[in-house]
Amino acid sequence: MDTFDVDLFVIGGGSGGVRAARIAANHGARVMLAEEFRYGGTCVIRGCVPKKLLVYASRFAGEFADAAGFGWHVGETSFDWATLIRNKDAEITRLENVYAANLESAGVSIVRSRAVIEDAHTVRVLSTGARIRAATILVATGAMPVRDASIPGIELAITSNEAFNLDTLPQRVLVIGAGYIAVEFAGIFAGLGARTSLVYRGEKLLRGFDEDVRAALETAYTARGIGLLAGRTVSGLGRAQDGSAIEVSLSDGTTMTVDAVLSAIGRRPNVGGLGLDAAGVALKPNGAIPVDGFSRTNVPSIYAVGDVTDRVNLTPVAIREGHAFADTVFGGKSWQVDHSVIPTAVFSTPEIGTVGLTEAQAREKHADVAIFRTSFRAMKATLSGGPERVLMKIVVDRASDRVLGVHIVGEAAGEMIQLAGIAVTMGATKADFDRTIAVHPSAAEELVTLR
Ligand code: FAD
Ligand code: NDP
Repeated sequence: MDTFDVDLFVIGGGSGGVRAARIAANHGARVMLAEEFRYGGTCVIRGCVPKKLLVYASRFAGEFADAAGFGWHVGETSFDWATLIRNKDAEITRLENVYAANLESAGVSIVRSRAVIEDAHTVRVLSTGARIRAATILVATGAMPVRDASIPGIELAITSNEAFNLDTLPQRVLVIGAGYIAVEFAGIFAGLGARTSLVYRGEKLLRGFDEDVRAALETAYTARGIGLLAGRTVSGLGRAQDGSAIEVSLSDGTTMTVDAVLSAIGRRPNVGGLGLDAAGVALKPNGAIPVDGFSRTNVPSIYAVGDVTDRVNLTPVAIREGHAFADTVFGGKSWQVDHSVIPTAVFSTPEIGTVGLTEAQAREKHADVAIFRTSFRAMKATLSGGPERVLMKIVVDRASDRVLGVHIVGEAAGEMIQLAGIAVTMGATKADFDRTIAVHPSAAEELVTLR
């Protein structure tokens, strides 16, 4: 019989890997985890957490402007990027240490090194050269930003990785893309005072989101002065003659000069040089590892969770997949993640919260769909004089009365959608929404008063 050094070797100390390692160790497994960069992974180090801190920072200018209508005189304000980044970095380091400490207190043996797979049961730790024999290997290596290498000068563009650690706040920013990262960073830079534009190949922002949501965000971003350069691509980047600025050529023949170009055109799974081929693990054309509902690859001893599988690339999903894997393989409790109803927020300003089907998806799947929708001026805007509006939309299957989707654009949409997500997950009907007593005065009350 083969003897193993560990029951589980986890490659990657991000959202999915950390959860899987801790839960497996709690179930009594001997677990080793290797992380080549920093514990916490993308979400903690250069994703969700620092992003949200920058989003908070970016919203103060709007708050200061709103204050006057409520009688406040704020006076002259100023913003210091270096302070924000320094404080953000301190918080990220604190969280990183918490992640490492939690792993250690769960009994996980942690290795600060890159690890590669040599065969179906062997992982090599590059820092020491040690070969570890593992009964099970979990690949939780996440994803990395891609750049379009066909664009001349694209190396002048930053990605979200670098955006978190710029020395200074750029005064003019062009963001390429129209997905989550593009719209969130455009909102951040614009809020901090940079002249900001988005350039994207499609006709609208946020493909895949409900059409009313897409339109509402475009209206709001236009009102904020964010340039929306739809139906265009970047054809080249070059260094401006007078210093550090970047000259951008667009596919419509126009040019612009900016201080930073942020490429946010998607992410690709981190599988390069990982040794998956040596172990016989199949890959999809985009590099993602195909897995079944239990996160099993085609090699029985190797599993994969999180962004590297390119299912739904969100932190809570990676965490849930890691947890389900550990319970199933080491806890004697077999369960699968339900990917069908996943609440999610886009931390643009205004924020977006969405769960379930869009109107278009619902109409494809259900014969008779009822739409309940309202768009109204945010209460705060009545005194501040701001242009902010709130969109609420409920998509209902008329035959069963079940709520298929909820879509919100407006302040705190991310907070609201978490709770709407419970209702949709439970299979709530529109009648259930209607019999819920409103919280007044709130924006969320529209969800239970829409008729
Ligand atoms: P990761 O968290 O990426 O962890 C993978 C880890 O593996 C990394 O630490 C990496 O260094 C390590 N690694 C890779 N290869 C090796 C190797 N060979 N050896 C050792 N270590 C290795 N999601 C949300 O839900 N909400 C948000 O608000 C949100 N905001 C985001 C903002 C940005 C800018 C980005 C980029 C992402 C955001 N996400 C958000 C997505 C979220 O960060 C990811 O879905 C999540 O981190 C995926 O977790 P993971 O465990 O699959 O991978
Ligand atoms: P997305 O997949 O969300 O968006 C990619 C964008 O880039 C789309 O607008 C896409 O256009 C465009 N694009 C793709 N290829 C090209 C190309 N060759 N040239 C020009 N444009 C291109 O990726 P992101 O990088 O924004 O984010 C990655 C993932 O991370 C998200 O999907 C999400 O899962 C997660 N994330 C979650 C967040 C949250 O929960 N708040 C925040 C940030 C990230 P088109 O639509 O035309 O294909």
